[in-house]
This record gives sequence, structure tokens and C-alpha cells, in this order.
Amino acid sequence: MDDLARDLSAKRVRVGRHPERGHYDFATIAAVLDAGLVCHVGIVSNGQPIVLPTIYARIGDRLYLHGSAVARWTSAATARLCVTVSIVDALVLARSAYQHTLNYRSVVVLGRARIVTGSAEKLSALQAIVEQVCPGRWGDVRHPTEHEMRATSVLAVPIAEASAKIRTGSPVDFESDLTSRVWAGLIPLRIARGAPISDLALAGDIDVPSYVLNYS
Ligand SMILES: Cc1cc2nc3c(=O)[nH]c(=O)nc-3n(C[C@H](O)[C@H](O)[C@H](O)COP(=O)(O)OP(=O)(O)OC[C@H]3O[C@@H](n4cnc5c(N)ncnc54)[C@H](O)[C@@H]3O)c2cc1C
Repeated sequence: MDDLARDLSAKRVRVGRHPERGHYDFATIAAVLDAGLVCHVGIVSNGQPIVLPTIYARIGDRLYLHGSAVARWTSAATARLCVTVSIVDALVLARSAYQHTLNYRSVVVLGRARIVTGSAEKLSALQAIVEQVCPGRWGDVRHPTEHEMRATSVLAVPIAEASAKIRTGSPVDFESDLTSRVWAGLIPLRIARGAPISDLALAGDIDVPSYVLNYS
């Protein structure tokens, strides 16, 4: 990338509103990506912008996405795409409707996806995606057959042109609203694991693995 391209790229990912919430260091971006479960992939397909939710994983400075080899988005993603991950940490209830917001961690990655053709990289990506969803699972399950590998497209997106935006803390109310008698504060939110439900066709002597019982 030449200097002009690097400059353009840095400008594209510069957070505009609340610039103090913007982060551009790799460690912060990676931490948000690793904490997320679902991303949204934005592409333009036949002139129509479309944003689709998918699962993903990060290996080093690459984001991996996968989908059916015949899915429209997996081929369109080799043009420019945008991937976002967002995690909601709290509802921020202010004294005025206007100042309500969320505490969140989010990442935007801009770039161009590469279709992964090498079978070793493809398998590592699929392993990482399974492990991102349920750490410990890859070691237990049957691995993909050649046919399943062919039926799956894996895309690699460089985490190069990226930003994180993080909001923490209390509501920020106008001075004139601070004496109002309405409750203000945070409602923390998190995804909670329910009790595992064994598949009805499961043989009775198969124990629920510890990575399922302790999933967090
Ligand atoms: C769960 C959630 C809910 C939100 N709800 C709202 C809402 O209702 N209304 C609203 O106005 N905003 C909301 N935001 C914030 C929103 O994502 C944008 O940050 C905001 O609209 C201001 O964008 P901007 O003008 O700074 O970005 P733009 O100038 O449009 O974007 C410039 C660049 O900044 C970076 N950027 C912008 N936003 C983010 C982000 N969230 N995370 C990482 N990088 C980013 C990107 O690289 C982007 O290319 C929400 C964010 C999250 C995570």
C-alpha cells in the first residue's frame, strides 16, 4: 500500500462522532472480535447493498468467514466488503429520551475478501470458526469430509483497515436534567447460557461434556 492509499484507508476508518471512543490499535480490535459471536457482512450485490449476519473467527490478523459455496454473498465479498461486530454491554438510561444510549464494544473492518483455496488454511479456518462458537468442540466432532470442504467457501479478510468503538460508563445528562426525579443509570446486559438440552436421538450413556456444562 502506498502512502496515499494508506492515508485514504486511515481516513475511512476514522470514527467521526465521539472520536474519543475510537480505537485503532490491533490489540483492542482483536479483543472485541474475539469476544463477539456474530458479525454482519455488508456487500453490494448487483447494485443492491445487503448486510447478512454470519459467524466468524480470527486467526492472527485475518478474519475468516464461511458459507455455502453457492451462496451469492461469498462470491460478491471478493469485491469490497464491510464486516461489523457489536457487543452490547448495557442499556444506558438517561434522564432525557435524547441522551439514552448503549454501552458497547464494536469493530468495523473494511477490505476485500480472498477465497481460501489451500486445504490446510481452509481447515484451520473452519476449526477456528467452530472453536469461536464453542471452545473445545473441534476435538470431539467428526471433521469435514472432502465433499463438505468443497461445499463450503471460506473467505479471509485482512484486519488492516479497521476501527473499534467502545462506550463505557454512566449516562451523560444535560446539567438542567440532573435534578429531575426520574431514575437514571445502567442495565448491564450479557448473553447467558441456559441449561444444555440433550438431543433426543443421543445414546443414553453419552455424558454432557465439560466444555458444554461450563460454556461461558
Ligand atoms: C450496538 C450499537 C448501537 C448503536 N446505535 C446507534 C444509534 O442508534 N444511532 C447512532 O447514531 N449511532 C449508533 N451507534 C453508533 C454507530 O455505530 C456509529 O458509531 C455512529 O452512528 C457514528 O458514526 P460516525 O459518524 O462516527 O461514523 P462514520 O463517519 O459513518 O464512519 C466512519 C468510520 O468510523 C468507524 N466507525 C463508525 N462507527 C463505528 C462503530 N460503532 N464501531 C467501530 N467503528 C466505527 C468505521 O471505520 C467507519 O468507516 C451504535 C453503535 C452500536 C455498537
